[in-house]
Amino acid sequence: MDPLYILCMPVSHPGYVVPGSLKVKCEQCPELVFVAPSSWLIRHDNPGAKIICMKCALSEMESEGGEIMDITPAQAEEIREYKQSNEN
Ligand SMILES: [Zn+2]
Repeated sequence: MDPLYILCMPVSHPGYVVPGSLKVKCEQCPELVFVAPSSWLIRHDNPGAKIICMKCALSEMESEGGEIMDITPAQAEEIREYKQSNEN
């Protein structure tokens, strides 16, 4: 089975943080990432899914060809809020 990755925004990355996000360590490097509530739901439904930062996700996909989870409606909503917060 292909590995599943939950892509998370690094804490060091300035920008919008989804309310209710938790800080956890990337499972592949020491980077701290924000895990949004919608991502916890994905993790709950897919216990094998790995929480990784953007950087690891990119290198991981290049080397392993893993699969990034489809965006859930909750995530789409978070991204919409993120875009709105950027416009202000
Ligand atoms: Zn990482």
